[in-house]
Amino acid sequence: MTQTYSTDIVIFGGGVAGMWMLNRLRQQGFDAILLESKALGSGQTIASQGIIHGGLKYALSGTLKGTATATAQMPQRWRDCLDGKGDVDLRNCEVLHDNYYMWSDSGLRSKLKTFLGSKSLVGRVEAVSSNDFPPVFRAATVAGTLYKLPDFVINTTSLLRTLSSQHSNSIFKVDSKRVRFKTDADGNINCIAIASDDQNLYINCQRTIFCAGEGNQRLIDKAQLTTPKTQVRPLKMVYVKKPGLPQLYVHCIGDSFSLTPQLTVTSHTDANGVPVWYLGGELAEAGTKRDDAAQLAAAQKQVKSTFPWVDLTDALWNCFTINRAEPDIANNFRPDDAYLLEEKHVIVAWPTKLTLSPSLADKLISHLQKTAVSPMTHNNSYKLSRSLDAPTIVKSHWD
Ligand SMILES: Cc1cc2nc3c(=O)[nH]c(=O)nc-3n(C[C@H](O)[C@H](O)[C@H](O)COP(=O)(O)OP(=O)(O)OC[C@H]3O[C@@H](n4cnc5c(N)ncnc54)[C@H](O)[C@@H]3O)c2cc1C
Repeated sequence: MTQTYSTDIVIFGGGVAGMWMLNRLRQQGFDAILLESKALGSGQTIASQGIIHGGLKYALSGTLKGTATATAQMPQRWRDCLDGKGDVDLRNCEVLHDNYYMWSDSGLRSKLKTFLGSKSLVGRVEAVSSNDFPPVFRAATVAGTLYKLPDFVINTTSLLRTLSSQHSNSIFKVDSKRVRFKTDADGNINCIAIASDDQNLYINCQRTIFCAGEGNQRLIDKAQLTTPKTQVRPLKMVYVKKPGLPQLYVHCIGDSFSLTPQLTVTSHTDANGVPVWYLGGELAEAGTKRDDAAQLAAAQKQVKSTFPWVDLTDALWNCFTINRAEPDIANNFRPDDAYLLEEKHVIVAWPTKLTLSPSLADKLISHLQKTAVSPMTHNNSYKLSRSLDAPTIVKSHWD
């Protein structure tokens, strides 16, 4: 049996970026659907630390140039959405902490002062007086300086739930192995074929978007696109669980040679209510060269030397490897903004950071306007829910 369905846009990939685009497209009057091959948020989104940042971390390491980047405007864009005044309604998304901090030991004070005094950062980063320290730093037994950044931290599970709930009737699970892309006489892809045991489903569309993170490369190969390629950067993330752990949201600038965050910590809660510290930064980048035991030992050593006053006796430590996926642009550079490119009516997209999802959606809407793609009327007599199930939301790594 053959069934045909038509829509304006089909998005592959239900991470933050695909779902953000789905929300924006539908709000702009496009008929759009999203196809996910596993659970929503699998891959980078659920592994992310959920920091909505203005780029300071990248300015510190010299990989981005501060306010010159799109990142600087993102915290306010997100705050508008969280307040219900932005282009995507995030009023139901939980903010884990309204501030993010940077902690450095006293040895780095003068170097940091010079750096933070640079024009682009004045007014964006404030030194916190010890009277205003958050509880975990009030108990500190080592001297250090604490700075408050304009960044904040969201609960990624809550984000996935909020983004998917508003258009749940347009989000479906597909088996990637059963998907084929059909090319028309001009070589463009305007039809997706999904085969099952008893039927062939054809989804006709004006544009297809690949927004599947690391999965983009397989889709690019299957659709026989020539550019761009995916580059992946592995990270070995660590988490530690212990009842009573205090909340901690901080970049730790720890050695005297570099301002790169040695340790980036966010706090979460597992399904049983136990507090979790999630550890990234240089620890996770360097950790890819270590086996699990060596990575856990390195994490324990680093945490103990940075927060000697926090008791981690009997804490449960674990780690896992996850790839960051980005477009492979010239000379191994890290892209400093969201990225998309169209070929054969397929738009390949990466936000490059969770923070930049609004920027990616802006680029998409402007690209569709420039290429004269506009909403059309579709009279479908067939409902996709008869052939395709709804995906679930992925669990956090610590659950
Ligand atoms: C450890 C870590 C920490 C991070 N921390 C931060 C942070 O604090 N702040 C920040 O701004 N950014 C952070 N990032 C980056 C951020 O997580 C990513 O840029 C962002 O989540 C990418 O979202 P995405 O939707 O493009 O991809 P993903 O989240 O990877 O989602 C891709 C989705 O596509 C699906 N998929 C794959 N193949 C197919 C297919 N063939 N068909 C259909 N679906 C498919 C996958 O199952 C998945 O659900 C972090 C990344 C990592 C790895």
